[in-house]
Amino acid sequence: MNKRLFITLALVTALTCTACGKTDNNQSPVTSAIKNDTVTTSYDNIAVTTPQTTHKDDKIPITTTSNIPINTTIKAVIDTTVITTQTEVITAPTTVTSEAITTQSATTVSTSVETTQPETTNPAQLLRPVGSPPSPDDPDYAPAPIQYNIEGITYIQGALIANKSYSLPSNFNPGLDKTCQTQFNKMVNDAYAKEGLQLKFGSGFRSYNDQYNIYNNFVARDGQAAADSYSARAGYSEHQSGLAIDVNTIDHTFDGTPEAAWLENHCHEYGFILRYPQGKENITGYQYESWHIRYLGTDLSYAVHNSGLTLEEYFGIDSYYH
Ligand SMILES: [Zn+2]
Repeated sequence: MNKRLFITLALVTALTCTACGKTDNNQSPVTSAIKNDTVTTSYDNIAVTTPQTTHKDDKIPITTTSNIPINTTIKAVIDTTVITTQTEVITAPTTVTSEAITTQSATTVSTSVETTQPETTNPAQLLRPVGSPPSPDDPDYAPAPIQYNIEGITYIQGALIANKSYSLPSNFNPGLDKTCQTQFNKMVNDAYAKEGLQLKFGSGFRSYNDQYNIYNNFVARDGQAAADSYSARAGYSEHQSGLAIDVNTIDHTFDGTPEAAWLENHCHEYGFILRYPQGKENITGYQYESWHIRYLGTDLSYAVHNSGLTLEEYFGIDSYYH
């Protein structure tokens, strides 16, 4: 008995049903190998004979290709014909390369198939170019917040405007917008999952009275001119809209951190914009705030972000106390 036949018989005898965990005693594996069409497969010179049958308790055929380790050469011996198949799986990012080589004759036939798949299989995401906003059927789509039909609130293209030129009624008290909250939470989770960055909710909705007290305290401490550069007067704060969130430390210690950089580059993907960018103080009316983001929904947030403009510039409005 040669070595290959001996190993073949040994492994055939050891074959068990993985579904029920029992050895199939109803039929000798050797007999099975003879009665049924069999494929003798050699794993690096170790032969395994697999009956091409369906186990009586199984509904799926036994396959010889499951559990094949990566970069394993499989040699299938059928009669005197030797077919060598080499499979290579490249996992980063999700590129699969398959190469089949047939060595039946002196002529070598080689075929190569390469496919690249993005991380998601959602059709809407597959069709979306980088940097373009998601469509409403895309899971990344973030809708615009609801609009209130209340006198004294200014909307432009569906976006509520709250700056030094456009105030809010003192009795407008909506609380933090729910969609804004949901999208913020999604962004926080993604920043941590994808980059290991920790974004934290610092401050959200502030009522007219809250802002009145905050602003007056700053005036008492720093004087009105200084206070106006970083704090809104009551009725003029974007925080009263329920669409603004301050993240992390809410001060300049946040500037230049990896979290601040990520926020500036990615918050539009969740429907937000960085509201008071650096170098735009005279346009927005406020100092650079790396921590203050404004929710718009992804239709507008992509448009504003891609324009490179502030919200004031994008809508052609100003921001100063008239
Ligand atoms: Zn803020």
